Amino acid sequence: MLDKRMSKEDIFENLKKFQDMDMSYESGKILSSMCTKPDPVAMQAYKMFIETNLGDPGLFQGTALMESEVIEMLGQILHLENASGHIVTGGTEANIMAMSVAKYLFQEKHDGTPEIILPTSAHFSFKKIISMLSLKAVYVPLDENYRMDVSKIEELITDNTMAIVAIAGTTELGLVDDIEKISNIAYSNGIYLHVDAAFGGFIIPFLDNQHKGNLNFDFKCKGVCSMTIDPHKMGLAPVPAGGILFRHAEHLEKLAVKTPYLTRNKQTTIVGTRSGAATAATWTLLNYYGMEGYQKIVKDAMELTEYTYNKLSNMEHIDITCKPQLNLISFTSDIKDVDTLKQELYDYGWRVSVAQKPHVLRLVLMPHVKREHIDKFLIDLKSVLED
Ligand code: PLP
Repeated sequence: MLDKRMSKEDIFENLKKFQDMDMSYESGKILSSMCTKPDPVAMQAYKMFIETNLGDPGLFQGTALMESEVIEMLGQILHLENASGHIVTGGTEANIMAMSVAKYLFQEKHDGTPEIILPTSAHFSFKKIISMLSLKAVYVPLDENYRMDVSKIEELITDNTMAIVAIAGTTELGLVDDIEKISNIAYSNGIYLHVDAAFGGFIIPFLDNQHKGNLNFDFKCKGVCSMTIDPHKMGLAPVPAGGILFRHAEHLEKLAVKTPYLTRNKQTTIVGTRSGAATAATWTLLNYYGMEGYQKIVKDAMELTEYTYNKLSNMEHIDITCKPQLNLISFTSDIKDVDTLKQELYDYGWRVSVAQKPHVLRLVLMPHVKREHIDKFLIDLKSVLED
């Protein structure tokens, strides 16, 4: 392959062929993803900063300044003044950073195997983390509303508890754990609490009063030590853009490694070389949309969720799993199992996914999904059920 060069024309012809094999968000058929079509303004900003490297911030001081402004703005969204953190590749890396900090803190005082208490609804990134950091996982079952059963947490705390993890917007059902209560438990027991708001972080702060109620899920809860919030999900940023925020600057410093050959003497990220493009895109989005703009994006997504929910509720043979809290709906059918349904919908071009706990079909109503797509989807779902 490499001994024969291709002309630019051939290259782009081939690239187009590869691209044509991909699904496009514009088709409206992707109902399984927590990512969406990136905003055009964000893509413009992304391209402008594509050559920057935040791993060597002394060379890219403007981009580094921009990252600090993004962290400050994300802190404002999550009620944290003087937030410390970084724009990273996504929720996985953000969660790894939080758990690494918790492990360093734990090891300053303990010798035993560190344990993390987490709900069975936690994203699979925690499986990777448990293995990478050699942690003992202590799973908390879900309550009847599919949220972390808060009443079970205290009995699971031991001298080796390193951290508690709670989820604000679960991957499978889009539900928010009772962060306020969990925070009180963590705080009164002196345990590190990380909130994984990779998905919910760009939704919950922008919900209207009717949907938000008195939901308290962020740094307002004094036990919360760190939060994941991903711009590349409901923030509309191009991939890869994750966010990690720490309440205490000294916690982020636990990750510091000396970088003698670079322009600054330390790094507090897991990756070394990292693009500033995602930071530029996020900075752009936050300033371009502001609170008001994101409120509108979230309002539209929630309206479509409600529309879909009402339609599905009135459909024969469909059983909705729970009232959606964010823009995610899950359901089963009494005449076809969910794996068959998923496959048959696939044959119609739809990409839906199956949650494991509970075993249900799940639809994520991201901004690239419009009402006309849902109307077509419902027609196909009906055909599949009648087939
Ligand atoms: N946490 C939650 C709650 C998620 O839903 C996801 C992904 O969907 C992640 C973490 C992992 O994020 P990423 O795929 O960006 O690494």
